[in-house]
Amino acid sequence: MDQAVMITASAAAQAYDVAIVGGGIMGAATAYNLARAGIKVGLFEKGRIGGEQSSRNWGAVRQQERDAAELPLMIESVRLWMGLEAELGVSLDWHQQGHLSLVYDEITSEVFEKWIPLGREHGLDTRMLTSKEVHHLLPHYRDRDCRGGLFTSSDGCAEPEKVTIAFARAASEKGAEVFELTSVSSIEAQNGQVCALWTEQGCVKADSILVAAGAWTNRLLRPLGIRHPSLWVRGSVGRTGVLPIEIRKLVAWGKTAYRQRSDGRVNIAVARAAFHDLTGESLLNGMKFLPAATRNWRNLRLSLGSHAVRDLMGDFADFTTHRTLDPRPDWRRLENTARLFAQEYPEAGPFNLERGWAGFMDFMPDELPVLGETSSCRGLFVAAGFSGAGFGMGPVIGRIMADLIQGNPAGHNLSRFSPKRFSKERQP
Ligand SMILES: Cc1cc2nc3c(=O)[nH]c(=O)nc-3n(C[C@H](O)[C@H](O)[C@H](O)COP(=O)(O)OP(=O)(O)OC[C@H]3O[C@@H](n4cnc5c(N)ncnc54)[C@H](O)[C@@H]3O)c2cc1C
Repeated sequence: MDQAVMITASAAAQAYDVAIVGGGIMGAATAYNLARAGIKVGLFEKGRIGGEQSSRNWGAVRQQERDAAELPLMIESVRLWMGLEAELGVSLDWHQQGHLSLVYDEITSEVFEKWIPLGREHGLDTRMLTSKEVHHLLPHYRDRDCRGGLFTSSDGCAEPEKVTIAFARAASEKGAEVFELTSVSSIEAQNGQVCALWTEQGCVKADSILVAAGAWTNRLLRPLGIRHPSLWVRGSVGRTGVLPIEIRKLVAWGKTAYRQRSDGRVNIAVARAAFHDLTGESLLNGMKFLPAATRNWRNLRLSLGSHAVRDLMGDFADFTTHRTLDPRPDWRRLENTARLFAQEYPEAGPFNLERGWAGFMDFMPDELPVLGETSSCRGLFVAAGFSGAGFGMGPVIGRIMADLIQGNPAGHNLSRFSPKRFSKERQP
């Protein structure tokens, strides 16, 4: 993604109340919430604000199909999304027109039906639409295989390219110091208490440190003896030119996944496929992913190629080689997906993909994020491992992490997200 360096403060102070590693949506939203509470915050981003997953995703703000532990957080997040444009003072292309997961077979239909009572328990209006209702919602959609879809009208979507930058700007306006092109190479602790981090500008002291480093989190935590067994899963997205049809402003997920932007272009993604490029991490952590891999074997694609070689050569070992992780999109599958979309929407006419990109999602074995303070290192907090579904959670995670760091209650039961769940943490 092309973004200008926009927010960089000049020189890092020698000490902050809170230092944040990672300028994705989690780091930026937390910085915003801390800064407006009057906390002295430094936010360190090795590349550009929002340059990795947070600007490359589909833009879905989705409550439906969430794990029971995530759902209350996601419901609060949607409430925050509803006021976010007014609060941050910018357009985020926020639309609350639902989320639609299409159904083509009995098995998927049963899985979706089973989820509905959980949504109802939490007051959601999630329901199964008939095929006729789907076509009413999406008048240009012509796929006759479609049997219906799971729909939650209070779900929404926003433009990923705008949101993280908006949080970082607002944080900066409230006094946070935001540093782009400033990687953090290590975190220091003394007597079980975090005390400093090493940045490209030198050593910076901090009473608390939040690691919100997305796909890089395990590389920062491992030297402290903290296990964070995440694996990278690659997602590819393409963008059409302006299409002569208007599609309801939602993320639809079926044979393809797509969202029409406010400029009329449509982002189309390879749906129902998870691509894992094998690396050394796959050997280290692969076994922990067996249950998830078995559950999703139909959608899983493994590739042994350039990433394995680059990993062996130490290419991902430091934080300055890849200022911004920019994996190659899977063009063959993107073109196939675009052809499927063209069959679903014949009135879109002939179109080409104007551009394409990919992003590495940081997946945890149980597909749940890691949130909270580590037990072996007081003052060291983690918000990472969002397993391909963190964009929608950004606003609530920013609120929760800022509260936890200040010693306030989280307002939700976070036990399923505990950083302790994967390891016996060693004293650093
Ligand atoms: C193709 C794709 C589609 C997706 N679709 C959706 C969707 O529709 N809805 C949804 O909710 N989620 C979606 N996601 C997932 C979502 O984008 C992520 O869960 C979310 O953006 C994670 O935010 P983050 O801040 O944790 O990580 P990131 O956005 O990856 O940010 C981490 C940042 O930390 C920085 N960093 C790392 N190490 C260091 C260091 N040592 N020093 C300084 N900086 C460092 C990185 O450069 C990076 O900018 C999708 C993801 C992808 C890739």
